Amino acid sequence: MKLMIVLLAVLAGVWLWRRGRTGGARAPKRRAQARAQALPMVRCARCGIHVPADEVVAGRRGSYCCAGHRQDAEDA
Ligand SMILES: [Zn+2]
Repeated sequence: MKLMIVLLAVLAGVWLWRRGRTGGARAPKRRAQARAQALPMVRCARCGIHVPADEVVAGRRGSYCCAGHRQDAEDA
């Protein structure tokens, strides 16, 4: 009986995790678009691509799309 409860808890956890990952919405694409429109886009100082402000990696010399580009630009 104890094993059954543990198993159910694990299954519930996996289900919640998957639900959280997919956003729990039927149209995650539309949600992502709305989010991108609401957020200001910041240009990466290394490669020039635009990333949403909440995903930007801030550096001493500017903003970057990822930690790797910040390192490339600032540790050189
Ligand atoms: Zn970049």
